[in-house]
Amino acid sequence: MKFYSTNNRNNIVGFEKAVMSGLADDSGLYMPCSFPNLKSLVASIEGLSFQEISYDVIKNFVQEEIPPGSLKNIIEQSINFPAPVSGLDNQLGILELFHGPTLAFKDFGARFMAQTMGYFVRNEETELNILVATSGDTGSAVANGFYGVEGINVFILYPSGKVSPIQEKQLTTLDKNVHTLEIIGTFDDCQRLVKEAFVDQELLKKIRLSSANSINIARLLPQSFYYFEAFKQLPSNGKKILYCVPSGNLGNLTAGLFAKMMGLPISNFIAATNSNNVFTDYLKTGKFMKRKSVQTLSNAMDVGNPSNLVRIIDMYKNNIENVSNDILSFSHNDRETVEAIKEVYMKYGYVIDPHGAVGYLAAKKYLESTDQSSFVLILETAHASKFKDIVENSIDKEIEIPARLASCLNEEKKSVILSSDYNDFKEFLLYFR
Ligand SMILES: *Cc1c(COP(=O)(O)O)cnc(C)c1O
Repeated sequence: MKFYSTNNRNNIVGFEKAVMSGLADDSGLYMPCSFPNLKSLVASIEGLSFQEISYDVIKNFVQEEIPPGSLKNIIEQSINFPAPVSGLDNQLGILELFHGPTLAFKDFGARFMAQTMGYFVRNEETELNILVATSGDTGSAVANGFYGVEGINVFILYPSGKVSPIQEKQLTTLDKNVHTLEIIGTFDDCQRLVKEAFVDQELLKKIRLSSANSINIARLLPQSFYYFEAFKQLPSNGKKILYCVPSGNLGNLTAGLFAKMMGLPISNFIAATNSNNVFTDYLKTGKFMKRKSVQTLSNAMDVGNPSNLVRIIDMYKNNIENVSNDILSFSHNDRETVEAIKEVYMKYGYVIDPHGAVGYLAAKKYLESTDQSSFVLILETAHASKFKDIVENSIDKEIEIPARLASCLNEEKKSVILSSDYNDFKEFLLYFR
């Protein structure tokens, strides 16, 4: 399979190039040149494991660039936790995407990308250095994904004192090839340091750098696996199936659209947004108006300029009617989010996180406007315990922290404190050479 750039359909590369460069050289995002027809996979899906499904999907995009044995190995190392569906009632279900090491769906993409990059650098003499600036969540998924992958060093930069205590523990309790840099500054400082490194010709002569950006096609493709895995678990009652996706940068939604393109019988998608409702407005007006993000309780969705929107516009050939035929979108605020966490707990006994709660609100809004013939599956993107205080205050009850998170809370923080001065950062990177 080849991949083209959203800025130029003639700018075409193979899978390895697309993965290792992340962004196209014309600054476009990579898109698959075609989608396989997987109707036969869908027809036989009941007998397949999550890993078998994942392999059957990904092999079409990778083809001869990774041999079957190695590709299976990558899947086994990355898609190694479940994505169970939990039913709420006969019109609503929850797809739990938080069973990975950092308790959020980003583990799927980050782990697959890390293993894939590890494969591509396996015979190289010099180590690859991945730089990631994080304001919290993405960093821990990426750090965990690359943890122990040979031939790759990871440098995670986070703003000192500006991530939650749980997030900080998740970021700073890994060792081996993961180096956590606590920057005395803001998230913007962290991003600036990373950007400066990528254009520092003197540094680039000495060390090999790459990013592990969320726009990397190797993070997007594996997110389509669980749309299939979820479908396998749905009751076959003849209802129309909708997936409701709590959305920020729209990567998760885009991966779902990929699954539909491959033949998964999804009737529609619902993009649930918080007060950062650029996409909801785009569907209403046909105009993409990026704006400054505002802080909300579902903070992983606080995005004012969703990076994957260009992919969606590209897929639908810039035709807003076609987009609206497949995707609906509803926006809800923090007050409603808190109420929804409470409601889901009271009504169903289910403890939902603030992101899933925004999904619940959108799903409910849709169901109010339709008859009994739809089934909406809400993607629960994070475990409620990652947002312990908000959730406990909403449901007035203590919630349990899963063992895989609790264990890192008892470990000692290991980080290197650096100023936000570029020269300090550069010196640190060179020291590792
Ligand atoms: C990243 C994230 C989202 C948003 O996903 P996008 O792919 O950026 O739309 C939603 N919920 C959680 C918990 C996340 O970490």
